[in-house]
Amino acid sequence: WIAAVARRGAALPGAEIDWPGGWPGALLLAAVTVALTVAARRVRRHPWTGAACVLLLLLAVVRPAPLTRVVTGWPPPGWKYAMCDVGQGDATVLATGAGAAVVIDTGPDPRLVDRCLRALGVTRIPLLLLTHFHADHVAGLPGVLRGRTVGAIETTNLQDPPDQSASVRREAAAARVPVVRAGPGEQRRIGGLSWQVLWPPPAPVPVADGPNDASVTLLVRSAGLTLLLPGDLEPPAQQALLRAYPALPPVDVLKVAHHGSAYQDPALLRAVRPRLALISCGQDNPYGHPAPRTVSSLRAGGATVLRTDRDGSIAVTGTGPGLRAIPTGP
Ligand SMILES: [Zn+2]
Repeated sequence: WIAAVARRGAALPGAEIDWPGGWPGALLLAAVTVALTVAARRVRRHPWTGAACVLLLLLAVVRPAPLTRVVTGWPPPGWKYAMCDVGQGDATVLATGAGAAVVIDTGPDPRLVDRCLRALGVTRIPLLLLTHFHADHVAGLPGVLRGRTVGAIETTNLQDPPDQSASVRREAAAARVPVVRAGPGEQRRIGGLSWQVLWPPPAPVPVADGPNDASVTLLVRSAGLTLLLPGDLEPPAQQALLRAYPALPPVDVLKVAHHGSAYQDPALLRAVRPRLALISCGQDNPYGHPAPRTVSSLRAGGATVLRTDRDGSIAVTGTGPGLRAIPTGP
């Protein structure tokens, strides 16, 4: 029971406090303990002050989403799409209704994706889509499953890297969530959200860049918004995608492929000419993502570019001239 309480406590949003290590940390802990003991004695004489302190402490640790929304102003009301700041990786969210969303990828760290979904108030996930099995897209899975109901997990058809694919299967089985494969051309609708799976094609899968080129790619429509979400597709698959769908429409939002790497097919960018180009990448990542030339060619094409390493998590609201990307800030 004690272990269960500890686990639950450690999973709460306000459970992490950076504390200095070594002697300075120990001395600080001793000083804080003495101060708290003295304060507790005084507070005993003022029960209402004591109750207020307990309430404040509880709110600081539990951080309920409606409260953080009032304090931080994020996410904005009526958000349709959000790109979570999960460091070097991808985790993005399509709202389907109050407390519900389709989640695409989990980022590399369970704590970061859990924190973002909590801020967004997402408790029900009818579908979790994993574009491919690289760790920066699937290793955060336990954080998505934590305390949420997930209807199904949909994946690409290339089970590579095999160890990541196996651990997704294990975690899904432990949480009793069925795992299905995305079919090319598959179309789905949940409320005002609908999408089509454009990629990968049926087996044999393209192996030019292995898992990246097998990324499940979605064309999404959500209450007047059009979005293209191409995972980590590399130019060979981007070109094949454009050949398969030559009439790909212009989009409001592009999740820039492969964290804004230098390798983007210019013809695909011209075809979809996004109004908002959103890049998910980690601060000072060793890959140099996003590439300056990718950012400048997106801007030259008329896109407003935001990136999670500088802007934090990003939520998209509005349509037409009212389209907005609202970042949390770093
Ligand atoms: Zn990636």
